[in-house]
Amino acid sequence: MASDTGIFKMMQWETLIRETVQMGGQLVFLKDKAPVDQDMYLETLLSHFRYEIPFVRRSVADIQSATFRTKATDLILFFEEQGELIDALNSVLQGQRLILAKKNFVKTPFVDFVWSDCSLNDWTQVLGSLKQNWKKPPALPQFGEASQAPCLFLDRDDVVVKNVPYNKEAQKVQLLPGIIELINSAHKKGYWVALVTNQSGLGRGWISWKEYQAVHQQMLSLLAEKGAWIDECVWSSFIEEGVPVGNLYAGLRKPRAGMLQMVDEKLHVRMETSILVGDSASDILAGYSAGVGRLYLLSSDKLVKEQASLEEFKKKDPRLQYEWAQTFADIIL
Ligand SMILES: [Mg+2]
Repeated sequence: MASDTGIFKMMQWETLIRETVQMGGQLVFLKDKAPVDQDMYLETLLSHFRYEIPFVRRSVADIQSATFRTKATDLILFFEEQGELIDALNSVLQGQRLILAKKNFVKTPFVDFVWSDCSLNDWTQVLGSLKQNWKKPPALPQFGEASQAPCLFLDRDDVVVKNVPYNKEAQKVQLLPGIIELINSAHKKGYWVALVTNQSGLGRGWISWKEYQAVHQQMLSLLAEKGAWIDECVWSSFIEEGVPVGNLYAGLRKPRAGMLQMVDEKLHVRMETSILVGDSASDILAGYSAGVGRLYLLSSDKLVKEQASLEEFKKKDPRLQYEWAQTFADIIL
């Protein structure tokens, strides 16, 4: 019989899976390096859930060749034996990453959840319990026709507004010189303009939702005074450490591509001809993961550090290309 802690853990995992599906995500299992016995077992187990809980099994080759793309809302499951695949797939894999580990699994970067001491029995019970209580989630709204227009993706702090760390005061909002001209000229040339911003201050509880909205509204008002607007704004409140299971959307936080994917789902942008402007390595990497055609690293106080971090990334993946912009005037639309 499961202990109280065991039952609690199962309820947490149920919540995580339920939220995944309710937000339009699915469970993704990787075929490669899955332990043979667990692989067969899971196939049988999951076949009972095919119509209730969406899941797919895909190979690493499918994901690398973009035959199949994971989404920010997906929950991607790895067995302990597949740990090394997470690093190998970093730049193409989106979604929350969960490792089912037997014991003492050392946390690697880009793992959101480690379910240590998980046995297949626990997993069976989670899915069994979900099946009993499962209510089909309502269909998500569908947005209009594919526009296939390019998009100008902008980071917020030190790109649209001057960075004030964890700012919660609307009166401190100050637009960066040149941003209005950039946005207006992007719109004139047929680009969508989208804001994609990490806001861990929300997740940490350092900024309230009301304060965030006030700051956000002030930024939009200052833009509007000069006839500029942003078509879609997405933010991620996710924080890497200490997030209780059940709080979804790790996949949104840059350097992951989740926020850009959300913009794409709504506006249907053409990523290859799109542009991203950011002042952090994580901005550039999010754009790279999403397949954005041109990536600009905008000069800021931390330029040298961010460049070093991108050069480090290029040692592992030389396909990354980005340009450096001293000012917005260097950005070619
Ligand atoms: Mg920034």
